[in-house]
Amino acid sequence: MAAACAGSVELGFAEEAPAWRLRSEQFPSKVGGRPAWLSAAGLPGPAELSCALCGRPLAFLLQLYAPLPGRADAFHRGLFLFCCRAPPCCAGLRVFRNQLPRKNDFYSYEPPSEEPPAATGDPVCLQLKSGARLCRVCGCLGPKTCSRCHRAHYCSKEHQTLDWRSGHKQACTQADNLDNTVPDHNFLFPEFEIVIETEDEITPEVVEKEEESEIIGSMGEAPEEELDSMAKHESREDKVFQKFKTKVALEPEQILRYGRGTAPIWISAENIPQEEDVPDCPCGAKRIFEFQLLTPERSRQCVCKATSCLCWQFLLDHLTSTIPFCTDKSVMPQLLNYLKADRLGRSVDWGVLAVFTCAESCRLGTGYAEEFVWKQDITDTP
Ligand SMILES: [Zn+2]
Ligand SMILES: [Zn+2]
Ligand SMILES: [Zn+2]
Ligand SMILES: [Zn+2]
Repeated sequence: MAAACAGSVELGFAEEAPAWRLRSEQFPSKVGGRPAWLSAAGLPGPAELSCALCGRPLAFLLQLYAPLPGRADAFHRGLFLFCCRAPPCCAGLRVFRNQLPRKNDFYSYEPPSEEPPAATGDPVCLQLKSGARLCRVCGCLGPKTCSRCHRAHYCSKEHQTLDWRSGHKQACTQADNLDNTVPDHNFLFPEFEIVIETEDEITPEVVEKEEESEIIGSMGEAPEEELDSMAKHESREDKVFQKFKTKVALEPEQILRYGRGTAPIWISAENIPQEEDVPDCPCGAKRIFEFQLLTPERSRQCVCKATSCLCWQFLLDHLTSTIPFCTDKSVMPQLLNYLKADRLGRSVDWGVLAVFTCAESCRLGTGYAEEFVWKQDITDTP
C-alpha cells in the first residue's frame, strides 16, 4: 500500500473475505476480529492494551499492512489500532507499530500463497510461533491462566470472567481442545478485509462544481433572511467541512484514507492538532500523519428528517451551527455500520481518527512501539 508515489492518497474499503485471507501469514489489512499479529514476539501486554481512561481491556479495531519500500528492516510493517468499547467510556484509543525484515523468524522469505490452504476447519489461533499465548476473548497477550485447567489464557480478570460465563465453566473440566471451542463473547468487532484503492485525483473538481450548482440552485428558492444568515456564517468551519464532504462524496464507502506524510482531511475546523499536540517518537524523530479513519456519528437525527442530508435545510442548519449536526449515509463513510457498534448499547463514536507515526519508522527489533492517535469529534456546540 505504501508503494504509491508521494502525495497520493489511498482509500480503504471494507469487504467480506474468507477467514484464511485474514491470517497473519497473508499480511492482511483488516477491520475487527482478533489481531493478526505481525511479529509473534514483543506483543503489547495487558497494561499497554488497557484503556488509558477507564482501565478496561481495549478491543482490536483494525490493522493496516504498510511496508516501507527501500527499508530492509520494514519489509513487513503493520499498524494496529485498538479502541475502548466499554460503556460508558468508549473513548480510549491506542495504536502500535511493528516491522520486520524479509528474513525473519516467523514468516517465509517468499510471498504467501494466494490459494486457500488445503486444511479444513478454521480453529482460532491462540498460540503464536514464539510460544506466546493469547487471550481467548480478545486475541491479545494472555499471561493469566484459568486456575482450574491452567490451559485457558486471558489478558485480564475481566476477560476470564466473560469466558467463564460464555461456556468455559462447562468446558474447563472436559475440553480436549479448548482452541476449537471458542464461543462468541460478543466482544470482538465483526471482521472484514480492508481493500485498498488509489484515490482518483481527477474527479474532485467535477464533484465540487456539481455541488456548487446544487447549492446555487437551491439558493434561488431560499427566503432572503436565510441567505443573509448563510453569508454571515460563511467561515473556515464551512470550508473545512465542505472539503471533507467533497472528498468523501467521491467514494462514499471509504472507511479510511492512507497517505504517509500527506495532510489529513478534517471534518471540522475545531480540534485540529497543532504540531505541538503530536508528541515526538521516543527515538527523537517527529511523528507524521500516516492514515485516518472516517466515521460518522449516527446517533443524532438530521433536523430536516429528510432522507438526504444534502438538502438546503441541512446546509443552512449546519452553517448556523445551532442545531445538532447530522450525518447521512450518502455523504459519510460507513465504518460504524460495518462494526455494528450499536450492538453493545452506547457505541464508539468519532468524526475522524488520525494516526501519526514515527517519521523515521525507527528500528524496533521484533517488538511493538506505541504511536499516536488524534480523535476529532463532531461537535454540536456553536
Ligand atoms: Zn475506556
Ligand atoms: Zn482479553
Ligand atoms: Zn479452565
Ligand atoms: Zn521513532
